[in-house]
Amino acid sequence: MSDWNRRIAPTASTVGAMAPLDRRRFLAGAAALAAVPAGAAIGAHAASAPYVFTHGAFEITVLSDGHFVLPPPGVAADVGFLYPATPRAELEAFLRGAGLSIERVELPNNVVLIRAASELVLVDTGAGSGWQPTAGRLVENLRVAGIDPAAITKVVFTHAHPDHLWGVADEGGALRFPNASYLVAEREWNFWMAEDTASKLPESFRRFALGARRDLSRIKDRLQTVKAGADIGGGMRVVDTAGHTPGHISLELAGGDGLIVVGDVAANAVVSFAHPEWRFAIDTVPELAITTRRRLLDRAASEKTRLIGSHWPYPGLGLAERKDGAYRFVATS
Ligand SMILES: [Zn+2]
Repeated sequence: MSDWNRRIAPTASTVGAMAPLDRRRFLAGAAALAAVPAGAAIGAHAASAPYVFTHGAFEITVLSDGHFVLPPPGVAADVGFLYPATPRAELEAFLRGAGLSIERVELPNNVVLIRAASELVLVDTGAGSGWQPTAGRLVENLRVAGIDPAAITKVVFTHAHPDHLWGVADEGGALRFPNASYLVAEREWNFWMAEDTASKLPESFRRFALGARRDLSRIKDRLQTVKAGADIGGGMRVVDTAGHTPGHISLELAGGDGLIVVGDVAANAVVSFAHPEWRFAIDTVPELAITTRRRLLDRAASEKTRLIGSHWPYPGLGLAERKDGAYRFVATS
């Protein structure tokens, strides 16, 4: 198993699989840990505590929504479809050299929670129950961290893909964060809410479009669209990182050397850094996504900006360092 796969955060799904007594002990330990301040020495249950750190005036908690695999279960195990323009031999040689599987990639789903003065801001809402059975643990892990979903005041969506949006409502359609206001980029809203988006996308992405319309419609009364560059208050700024989707945004937090919550600009901590120029099949606007990825990684490497990626090894916090004409991800957690 690769290092990529091993560094998956413990999730509520792990807890669910435990024997009842172990489960009670685990939860008691986890509840106790929720009260431990960031950076304090913690005991044997350390792995169960969410990752918490401070950045400037912000307290950041990275929560695990579980993980998912690509290709999804039931589909032939071959990651080649993700990099359709990369010659097969080159792809295989790279993955082998990096110790990665050619069959499936297991992606952690990290969700960032920002405490900023009186605001409790969630960046994306995880995958919910409709994506893959190993994902959709956000609310359970929020509760393990001692946070009531009703206390979330704002949700900022990096984009409207299933693993970032579908956790917004439960199976019955009720909003999981009922008191929050919701921010989505204007371009993202316009793209997914257009009548013809589903029919224009390749067959395999129609489900994404239908889900995006369904869930964006559910929050429309509490939703505000934002433009790139917008200051959303408290030292948080929206950065245009379009390409993965037409309205993909990142969230930059003021203070120190900088911190950017980058969503899926670079979806894979190994491949996207070493080969930002590879077309990635999940990018809706592939050429723009490549330009955006290079620009962001170049800036992060030059300015030593810390980044948090949605699918990098939990908690997904680290730096982009230059390497061999490209980059490598260096975890700083
Ligand atoms: Zn994603």
